[in-house]
This record gives sequence, structure tokens and C-alpha cells, in this order.
Amino acid sequence: MKGEVVKNYINGRWVESKSKETRDVISPTTGELLARTPMSTAEEAQEAIEAAKTAYERWRSTPAQTRIRYLYRFRNLLEDYFEELSKTITMEHGKIIDESRGEYRRAVENVEAAASIPTLQMGYNFEDIAAGIDEMVIKQPLGVFFCVAPFNFPGMVPTWFWPFAIACGNTYIVKPSEQVPLSQIRQFELIDKVGFPKGVMNLVNGGPEVVNALIKSPDTVGMSFVGSTPIGKLLYKKCGEHGKRAQVQAGAKNFITVMPDANIERTVPNLMSSFFGNTGQRCLSGAVLLAVGEVYNPLKVAVVNAAKELVIGNGLNEDVQMGPIATKAALKRVLGYIETGIKEGAELILDGRNVKIPDYPKGLFIGPNIFDKVTPEMTIAKEEIFGPVMSIIHVKDLDEAIDIIHANTYGNASSVFTSSGKIARDYQYRVRAGNIGINIGIVAPIATFPFSGMKDSFFGDLHGQGKDAVDFFTENKVVITRWF
Ligand code: NAD
Repeated sequence: MKGEVVKNYINGRWVESKSKETRDVISPTTGELLARTPMSTAEEAQEAIEAAKTAYERWRSTPAQTRIRYLYRFRNLLEDYFEELSKTITMEHGKIIDESRGEYRRAVENVEAAASIPTLQMGYNFEDIAAGIDEMVIKQPLGVFFCVAPFNFPGMVPTWFWPFAIACGNTYIVKPSEQVPLSQIRQFELIDKVGFPKGVMNLVNGGPEVVNALIKSPDTVGMSFVGSTPIGKLLYKKCGEHGKRAQVQAGAKNFITVMPDANIERTVPNLMSSFFGNTGQRCLSGAVLLAVGEVYNPLKVAVVNAAKELVIGNGLNEDVQMGPIATKAALKRVLGYIETGIKEGAELILDGRNVKIPDYPKGLFIGPNIFDKVTPEMTIAKEEIFGPVMSIIHVKDLDEAIDIIHANTYGNASSVFTSSGKIARDYQYRVRAGNIGINIGIVAPIATFPFSGMKDSFFGDLHGQGKDAVDFFTENKVVITRWF
């Protein structure tokens, strides 16, 4: 029902939060109240921890083959409800339906990758390290893990973590973004249908109070965080203080370099989805376009022309290419950065600020924005805007481009468009960013690869997904054996 306070899922049951404090969840397209998120209390976080702790002993000794059968069931339910789940993302977040489907495709792939872990990656051994002595490593689960998720991928982000954690034998608590709780509610309805043993999977809605309780509890072992750099840094420190494992995937400012030898016709559509896909609210979105040498003029004309053609509107409409910004506060922030760009002397050659979609007068719409004559010192070239804003910097050569990239504090992703193998190789070798694209505008690693990130875009050492996830969610025990 519209406007209802969403529930928590603790110990295999849906429970109402006792907290009186709630946060409205507003559709960014229609402006209607969709639901309310309870700001659950530390006691409620503690209930989830107790449930997960109690479930752990049994879950870790459940045979791995049995554990992953739950994941297969969940995977099949994701496929059965694929369209409905995708629509929920679009409703609460605003992104276009195809992007929501893409998000769920990745979620399915994560569950599939996690299901292979216990059989393929949970140990290794050596025979005869000395005469008659064998040595082995067994990878053991640790206990209760939790994730703290951002607003921009409400369906997918928790699946970067929990399927891997529970496949390895841990139990789990998801803390979604309070701005977009509905996608996780739908997923937990499926988790409930799967019939996991109670306490293995838990959901607690809320904000800092819940997160702090999860970090401080002596009964949790680690946190996976995805969100902004200031909050990520703060929580990474707190995890250190409380002896918790932590992997913190944080903010970004991604530089996309286009060389004079790039195939412009094929490059421009890539740039459109990189800079304006997900309405720029992606940690892998392009932010600054580094146009090298003589490509600058033709590229500028081509990106402006292409961006003008993007269809903006309700993301549920299959023809729409760009939805609204997710929240009022986020839109205000994006508009603030555009003002700052103008004040600091950049030239706004495509102004998306006055876009109106007549059917949705309350929608948080903004069109694509393109700044020309940007310099590396300007705020819009340095800080994360997290909206559909492209800043073009004209540089003379690859070295200048790489210097600008390295002067920035973030290091999440960077791409180069070129037809030269030598330049591409140079780029992947030299650029300090965790995910590098060669003629690819959005560098999203598949589930069996780590979601990398460097500098202020990542804190920790083991990343989400892939083999890193197995190491994060287990600890190694060495056993050396001799039989007399
Ligand atoms: P955010 O940092 O505001 O919030 C993230 C989570 O932290 C939310 O669940 C929120 O409830 C919680 N939180 C906020 N303040 C807190 C506090 N003081 N104490 C404890 N918990 C707190 O981020 P957001 O606005 O939801 O997400 C956007 C950000 O996420 C962008 O910076 C984007 O680049 C980043 N992001 C990074 C990746 C990646 O893989 N590197 C992926 C997606 C998004």
C-alpha cells in the first residue's frame, strides 16, 4: 500500500520497526509518496545480529552443497520475477527500465558466481611438504557480516556481497539505503519464499544508528560498504577501531580520454551512456571528457548533437533514454555544481536545467549538461557531481591527460578511446584507476572479477565479487598432517 512504513526482516519473520522516526520514499518521476522507511533503532539491529549469530553455527555446518541449493532457488525466483523487480527499481529510483533490467541481470550473475564457490574455491592442499607430511589450507567462514548500501543501485549492490558471504557459510544482515528501500523489500520477499533457515538472511532498514550498532557489536565480523567517500572513510575508521574487516567502495570522478585516432562514430554513443546513463548517478559514470589534440572540435560538436537527441521522461516508458534524478536533495546538489561551473568560468554549451516533462510536473527531471573550456582546477573537474554533467577539457597529448587524471583524488574507473594498441596498452599500464576501459565507456566487472577501485574510491584490500569475495568472507586455517 502506498505510503506504508516498510518492515524489517529478522529471524525469518517480517517485523515492524518500533521507531517512530521515518523517512518518505518519493517517486522521482510522479512525486507521489511510495512508502516510508523506518529509522530502526540500535536494539533492532541487535535483534538481527542475535538472529544471525544463532543461525551461524548451524549454517556453517550445513553441507556446502545444501547451502548453495538455496542460492539456486533464489536465482530462479529472480528470473521468475525479473520484470516486476526491474519495475520496482525504476519506480523508486527513476532509472530507465532497461537499466533496471541490466541491474538485475548483474544480480542474477552474482548469485550464479557465488553458488560455485564452496565447491571450487574453499581450500587447497599440498602432498608431501616433507616425507609423509601433507599440508592444507581450509577456508572457514567467520560469522555475521553486513552490508551498507547506496541509493543508486538498490537491487544489485547487496548481491555483490551476501550471496558470496552465505555461500562461504556466514550469515548476513542487509542495510539498504533509506532513500530506496522497496527493491530490497521485494528481494527479501523472494528470500522468504526460498525458505532459508531463519536468521541466515536479515534486513534492517534505517540510517546511521543501525550502521553504528552493526559496527560496534562484538558479534559482527565485517562490513561491505558502498557509498560516498566521506561516509566510507568514516566507517572504515570505525571498523578499524572495532576490529572489523571492511571493504569500502566509495565515490568517483571518472576521466574518459579520447585520442585523435579514435573512431568517433562508434565512440559517441558510448560516451552518451557513460556520461548520461543512469542519469549520471553511477560510480562508473564518465565525468570529465579529456579531448586530445585535434579531436577536440569535432568531438565537442558530436557529443552536443547526440546529447540533444536523448529522450527524457518516465523510465517505465521503453522509448525513454534518461530518467529523473533520484531525490530532491541530489537534484539540488547537481544544480549547485552547475552554478559553480558557470561562476568559475566554464562555458555551459548544453544546458539541461530547464527540461520539463508535461505529464510529470513534479518529476525531478534534468537534461544532459555539457561544459566546455573546463580547466583541471575547477570544482566541476575535481569533485563528484553524480548527475548528467559532462566537463570537457582540451589537452595536448596523452601525458597531459594522464597527469590530470593522477592529480584527482579518486581512482574508480577511466577509459580511453583509440585505435592504437600501443596507446591502449600504455593507458592500462599507467593510469591509476581500478577499472580501465579500452573503447568501453562503462567498465563494470562481471561477477567472477573483483569490482576494483583505487585511491579515494576504495578503502580496504579485498574487493567485492570474484575471488576477493571468497577471501573477504573466509579466514585461512593451515593444517599440517602426519600419520604414524
Ligand atoms: P551515502 O554515503 O550517502 O550513503 C551510503 C550508505 O551509508 C547508506 O546506506 C546510508 O544510510 C549510510 N550512511 C550515510 N551516512 C551515514 C553515517 N553518518 N553513518 C553511518 N551510515 C551512514 O551514499 P549514497 O548517496 O547513497 O550513494 C552515492 C555514492 O555511492 C556516490 O558517491 C557513488 O560514487 C558511490 N558509489 C560507489 C560505488 C563503488 O562501487 N565504488 C558504487 C555505487 C555507488
